[in-house]
Amino acid sequence: MSAQILDGKALSRQTRDALRVRVDALREQGIVPRLDVIVAAQDPASVAYVKMKRKWAEEIGMAGEATEVDDRTTQTELLDRIARLNADPEVHGVLLQHPLPKQLDEDAALLALGSTKDVDGITPESLGRLTADLPGFRCATPLGIMRLLTHHEIPLAGKRAVVIGRSVILGKPAALMLLQANATVTIAHSKTVDLPDLVREADIVVAAVGRPEMVRGDWLKPGAVVVDAGYNRVDGRTHDVGDCDFESCATVASWITPVPGGVGPMTVASLLGNCVDAAEAACARGGSASGTSAGGSC
Ligand code: NAP
Repeated sequence: MSAQILDGKALSRQTRDALRVRVDALREQGIVPRLDVIVAAQDPASVAYVKMKRKWAEEIGMAGEATEVDDRTTQTELLDRIARLNADPEVHGVLLQHPLPKQLDEDAALLALGSTKDVDGITPESLGRLTADLPGFRCATPLGIMRLLTHHEIPLAGKRAVVIGRSVILGKPAALMLLQANATVTIAHSKTVDLPDLVREADIVVAAVGRPEMVRGDWLKPGAVVVDAGYNRVDGRTHDVGDCDFESCATVASWITPVPGGVGPMTVASLLGNCVDAAEAACARGGSASGTSAGGSC
């Protein structure tokens, strides 16, 4: 292996240490940053992700509650819950953990979520703001990727980037953020032809596919920077694997994210950071998430 590691675990820890200081300052002013979650109770992976996010939130002094939805939850109940969270001045951020149970319309739920509480940055309004270069919450996973790259001073301006995957929560916003950083960006997807040849032209490769170890070292330009957002469970393997074959990619790349310990921890750090931003903005507006004083001294 010759590549250096883009260590998301270490940077996430540093980020959370810095967030804890900001949370302490808010608490001194009577504001407890609070992230609430809506999660499918019957989806073990979602429950595990949410448990981890809430544990990290608690470690830095944030509050939060989870609402569990299941196959008996109606759309009206879900939208009522979102309306209550939108209106609750004590709630600064709301995470709709994907996927919700099948009978629920997730797009309608995202449209209903207020943009000032969309700390995951995935509502149509937040994504539109990203596209239009307007202020707003940025999507947590691509934001975490950008922070990892900028922290390690990876040059982006003028570089050729290939993002593999065009999902609304990951591939597309990652491409937009790289574009904003002045990279020249190509987005690949399942209908792209000659993907290895395309990837071979890239200085920066972001893999956001959901196919275990699809990107191989011989697809890469020597010295490429490889960001592996994939997180795949493979039968018989002791830990989850990314979309890139780490061993072969690490012999060709200059920098690479490990899985686990790369993009995943940065996603959570970015989500919590957005929520602390939301709490600070509420504090600046007068002490609560809706702008009415919650009794604090902000
Ligand atoms: P998704 O919605 O399923 O999108 C996957 C994308 O990959 C699609 O755009 C698809 O193309 C493309 N694709 C599929 N097969 C391909 C192929 N053979 N060649 C090129 N492109 C192909 O997945 P997602 O939600 O973006 O997640 C992607 C991966 O990231 C998953 O492993 C997921 O677990 C992981 N993830 C990690 C984090 C984190 O925090 N680390 C957060 C979110 C997701 P089409 O559009 O043509 O179908």
